[in-house]
Amino acid sequence: MLKTVKFGGSSVAGAEQFKKVKAIIEADPSRKIVISSAAGKRSSDDHKLTDLLYLCHAHITYGVSCDDIMDTIQKRFADMRNELGLRYDVEADFAALRAKLDRDTSVDELVSRGEYFTSKLLAEYLGYEFVDAANCIFFSLDGQIDKEKTYAAIAEAVGKYERVVIPGFYGRSPTGRIKVMSRGGSDISGALAAAACNADVYENWTDVSGILMADPRIVKDPKPIPRITYAELRELAFMGASVLHEESVLPVKEKGIALNIRNTNRPEDAGTMIVEKVENEDTHERFITGIAGRRNFAIITVLKHNMNTSETLRRALEILDRYKASVEHITLGLDSFALVTSSAALGDGVYDVLNDIQKSCHPDEVQVKDGIALVAAVGRKMTFRPGISGRLFKALGENGVNIRTIAQGADELSIIIGVENKHFETAIQVMYEGFAG
Ligand code: ASP
Repeated sequence: MLKTVKFGGSSVAGAEQFKKVKAIIEADPSRKIVISSAAGKRSSDDHKLTDLLYLCHAHITYGVSCDDIMDTIQKRFADMRNELGLRYDVEADFAALRAKLDRDTSVDELVSRGEYFTSKLLAEYLGYEFVDAANCIFFSLDGQIDKEKTYAAIAEAVGKYERVVIPGFYGRSPTGRIKVMSRGGSDISGALAAAACNADVYENWTDVSGILMADPRIVKDPKPIPRITYAELRELAFMGASVLHEESVLPVKEKGIALNIRNTNRPEDAGTMIVEKVENEDTHERFITGIAGRRNFAIITVLKHNMNTSETLRRALEILDRYKASVEHITLGLDSFALVTSSAALGDGVYDVLNDIQKSCHPDEVQVKDGIALVAAVGRKMTFRPGISGRLFKALGENGVNIRTIAQGADELSIIIGVENKHFETAIQVMYEGFAG
């Protein structure tokens, strides 16, 4: 058994968190490959090191001294080292970094030091080998990860040292310079390391006990999702849930590696297991996996008696495409169809779109209804379950939520309803209480 484990910023924020990380690593000898973020916030009024480093760079760019910020960062590492009784020469590494800081210092190189220093400390503390991401995560010229080269280099490092700590978030570009990923990129580094070594599991340790069934700002204490498929996760993310970014799960998804989201502060919780396919479906588990939604859509309805639906629809879609307004859903009637698109994408162009539809489709009528929220109930177990939509609509109706449009994904993984923006939160609460709570 081989596990790749990634610790997020809050998991490595200070000496106390380091101790929890060590206990997690020591509890399971298969946790051999560790990816670390930069130390994050220790409390709500604290700062993430990555943010401080970006701030440093902004100071340098404008010719303002960043000595104070650098002192704060250095002190944070030195304090952690002292508290944990480690030997890492923080002062020497910082002196070297500070000596090269000038207007030409690349922002990527500077901000990557958050992960670099944190991982150096962590490696010493765990007794693991520090392997610099600059030597094992590679970008190609188009800015994408060069997977072949990266996998080979990580596999080689793991083959040589067996237990390693690799900093997340950055790698090396073909020109030899340090390049960072998008914010939160350590998730990607972790997935790459797991894929490179064909790990059995990729554990992503954070500060929540898994993905929640609904947004906790809308539903009180939503339950965590025990098991979810990659397809469901994609659907939830698309519908607005703040879950792992698709890019950051792709390397493990491609290799069929399960991804387990865990809580560093509550290691006894099982967290959420993300898998390609659920083998032994637990029939007692809820049949809705999660609920998510987004506000601000518009429904454009085109009515035309006896129309050639495919031709008229094609023309309307072409028009929306010209205005770069992507279509989220299409519902068809005998003499009408409705297109749901994002209001922001339409913007001020909405009247031009309607005008063009008039001219090109010659409808009896074309209407637009703005201020629509889309809410989706996502669940693999909804497939072939009769009566779910009926129950859902009844519950919403009883709570005064008027449904403006309904769509069911062709794979029956989700039921999506359109309601007025003002009913957004109620719709989510009713769905949660009725089907998930
Ligand atoms: N430290 C980086 C950030 O704050 C990357 C990460 O934590 O994943 O975005």
